[in-house]
Amino acid sequence: MKIKKGDIVLIISGKDRARKGKILQVLPKEERVLVEGINIRKKSVRPKRSGEKGQLVEMPGQISISNLKLICPKCKKATRVGYKIISPSAGGKKTKVRICKKCGQEI
Ligand SMILES: [Zn+2]
Repeated sequence: MKIKKGDIVLIISGKDRARKGKILQVLPKEERVLVEGINIRKKSVRPKRSGEKGQLVEMPGQISISNLKLICPKCKKATRVGYKIISPSAGGKKTKVRICKKCGQEI
């Protein structure tokens, strides 16, 4: 998955197009995510005890990762994500890091 929890993303299609939000949850199998404040659904919650009122709670709905772009925390632009393999000279473990296709920095 190119998107991680905590990433800031730009929505590029659907009713929340051009809005930004933070990833709250990633569902890798479905290739969908929950984004803070995006695709809000109102869900009614039943009262737990008698005498209490039911509530309408706003919850983000899932959206497909194809409907969003990552916003690079370094250059603040909406970008595609690339990868870079870093191999330490001391013979340590190789690590794969995400890079911004716009500015080339690690993200
Ligand atoms: Zn960047």
